[in-house]
Amino acid sequence: MTIELMMLGGAGEIGANSCYLNINGHGMVIDAGLHPRRRDRAALPEVEVLGDRPVHSFVLTHAHTDHLGGFPYMLKSLPHARMITTRPTRDLVEIMLRNTIKLFNLEPTTQLPSGALEYYAPAMLDKFSPVFDAVLYNEPVALSTDDTQYGSSAALTAPKDLTLTFHDAGHIIGSAGVLVEANGAAIMHTGDVKFSPQALLKGASFPKHHLDCLIIECTNGAEENPHGYEEEKTRLAEFITHIYNQNGSVLLPTFALGKTQEVLKIVHELRQAERIPKMPIFTGGMSKRITKIYDRYAEAVPRQEPGFLLKSIPLTYVKYETMMSGKFFNEPSIVIISSGMLNEGSPSYQLAQRWMTIRNFGIGVMGYQDSSTPGYALLHSERDVEFTMANKTVIRACELERFRFSAHARRDELLDYIFATKPNHLFLVHGDPAATESMRSAVEANFPDINITIPQHGESYQFEV
Ligand SMILES: [Zn+2]
Ligand SMILES: [Zn+2]
Repeated sequence: MTIELMMLGGAGEIGANSCYLNINGHGMVIDAGLHPRRRDRAALPEVEVLGDRPVHSFVLTHAHTDHLGGFPYMLKSLPHARMITTRPTRDLVEIMLRNTIKLFNLEPTTQLPSGALEYYAPAMLDKFSPVFDAVLYNEPVALSTDDTQYGSSAALTAPKDLTLTFHDAGHIIGSAGVLVEANGAAIMHTGDVKFSPQALLKGASFPKHHLDCLIIECTNGAEENPHGYEEEKTRLAEFITHIYNQNGSVLLPTFALGKTQEVLKIVHELRQAERIPKMPIFTGGMSKRITKIYDRYAEAVPRQEPGFLLKSIPLTYVKYETMMSGKFFNEPSIVIISSGMLNEGSPSYQLAQRWMTIRNFGIGVMGYQDSSTPGYALLHSERDVEFTMANKTVIRACELERFRFSAHARRDELLDYIFATKPNHLFLVHGDPAATESMRSAVEANFPDINITIPQHGESYQFEV
């Protein structure tokens, strides 16, 4: 069987992640992301490089914007493809795309391909979720190669026993790795994956058998994680208690999807165990609707504590319009709010402007900060020294601490998975060059027979399985 792989976006970086696979005639696109920073042609997957290649199916691994934000453009370009995802992801599609549409209204989009914005209109919002077939984890779905729309040449060769199976990726709710099987061959795309458990989600449950081809994310590929999960939890408890003891409040900027819910659970556990004082928790932004979806699937997807409801955590939702007069400015509190990288204008950005001026307050930077973001500038700031944040000169008087609760697999876990499945063909994606190169060296040193590729944007890679 001949396989062709082509990256439509997200090669050599965490960008507009999108991968095309042609399995002996069956064309499949996995994910359609929006680049976190760029708003030119590279903001969206480059569907045009496909030329007249067929696309029969579109598979969505999870609902983060760097995998889903380009979907309206994909739908416009490939309206006939069968769209497939998991149930929680389907429920999240509309909420997350609503936010993408808001982003496009705030930011200049004149360099996007002509007509790209046509499907980014509020009137389109209710049309996105229904186009998806929602399937369960671990249940193979038969894929057909219908030749009526694509000419007969594809259908003549495409395998008749082609199946797709979603495996829990443990990254955020609904996240999945995709296993494609045909003619006895197995091709796996990890999507974003977390192998060890988080506060809410269990770790990934991926097939461990031999793979003919593995496409694996490398977010943490360059990094030896210095702290373990429990250690980070202890450091967070100490930081919160320290700020409380000086009568201050703690701001924890978090991504709305995934990190907010995990951090809510961590803080709740710390409060229940009396490892931090009884202090009020506030949250807000778009996380409210997302948290409801976590609760909707409290029993239906693998969880650390099946049935646990985030709505059982006593907390207060703050509104964007009134948050600057929030109670947390007057009494020691914890505020868990998006965006995770303090994007300009977001609730966490607005609150941080005020937080920074209050000496006994603290900000806990919770995750990865892209170098172009206000969060990165804040993370690298020194106390009481002027610095530039979103083109404004500011001074940070408050305390600052960094915590790592990554929702991505550690480097050693990624390598373990590669070594367990011993793929004939390995593609390293979703990571910066330092991460993918570091992974390449480690794999080469241990298994020189594995054919390793760090794919380039728009380049075609063909091989036999
Ligand atoms: Zn993700
Ligand atoms: Zn991602």
